[in-house]
Amino acid sequence: MQIDRVTLTHCRIPLVEPFRISNGVVAEKDGIVVQVESEGLRAFGESSPMAGSFYSGDTPESCWRDLCETLIPRALLHGRWDSLEAACQWIDALPGVSNFAKVGLETALWDLEAQRRGVSLAALLGGTRTAVESGLAVGLYSNEAALHAAIEREITAAGYKRVKVKIAPGHDVDLVAGVARRFPGVPLMTDANAAYTIADAPVFEKLDAHGMLMFEQPLAGAAFEDSAALQRRVRTPVCFDESLESPADVTRAAELDACRIANIKIQRVGGLANALEVYRRAQAAGMGLWVGTMPELGVGCAAGVHLAALDGITFPTDVEASARWFRDDLIEPGIEVRDGLIHVPTAPGLGYHVSEEKLRRYQVARQEFRG
Ligand SMILES: [Mg+2]
Repeated sequence: MQIDRVTLTHCRIPLVEPFRISNGVVAEKDGIVVQVESEGLRAFGESSPMAGSFYSGDTPESCWRDLCETLIPRALLHGRWDSLEAACQWIDALPGVSNFAKVGLETALWDLEAQRRGVSLAALLGGTRTAVESGLAVGLYSNEAALHAAIEREITAAGYKRVKVKIAPGHDVDLVAGVARRFPGVPLMTDANAAYTIADAPVFEKLDAHGMLMFEQPLAGAAFEDSAALQRRVRTPVCFDESLESPADVTRAAELDACRIANIKIQRVGGLANALEVYRRAQAAGMGLWVGTMPELGVGCAAGVHLAALDGITFPTDVEASARWFRDDLIEPGIEVRDGLIHVPTAPGLGYHVSEEKLRRYQVARQEFRG
């Protein structure tokens, strides 16, 4: 496996509506597309932290620096690897580069390897599903009517298989009760993005009555012991998102019974090799599993669709239709959800066409590197 040329394009696409969670609001989506050229093939990956660093400390600017100054120059200097596995290990071991930067190059190499073998990325990962279930995620709204209208509109449009509502202190018990009343029969879950402490356990004891699919990341990312204490007090499974930065975190979470479901984010764990290891360890521990998103633009979400094709992914993915969040997308066609399902492409690699015209239309910065 060798790299002849890498082109980085930092793109910015306006959101359909601002997205508010427990610790911030965004109105645009930034993604850095990593295009790798190798022996006549072109492959793509995406580095896609949230702008404003309120999901993690990583920003598009910090990722751009990591990619331009360290990861891509060193990868081109290294030049070639004996296998995809060796390339992934080399990337994973590189010090001083964030997971969100690594994932752009790592996932591009998976796309490249799948194209070389003439198989879909899903097949290379070991996935067999032809379609994956998609769930709706909705942010915080200023009033209940607007929240309900958003859920109604999106479920009607695409038939999403479950609804995930964002919660924050003061916007939780009544908010969830209202959604449960308004949408009976729709599987529900909450995502707090780490906004609570163990002192708020009574909030989750009240939410427990709704029989929801899961409570995603109620407590701080590092609060494994407190999360285990919370899990002992509620029947609803706790799901880890921000807490799982590496496969080792899954093992520790399982030992403590700190969560019973894992949200696998390719971006957060630094690529597909680590995502597969998270998957294996979580399965071995008997945890439920699903594939989350930042959300990424189309290149990153496409990788998530392929990962979600693995057996043992037990809950719908957060990958939604491109048009749900973005005024436009970099892939053609965009990701589509019909009857709550996303078709898994069968063409070699990612199976979506990445539009050069759109990369240029939405670019904030571009840089080319040659081996
Ligand atoms: Mg989350």
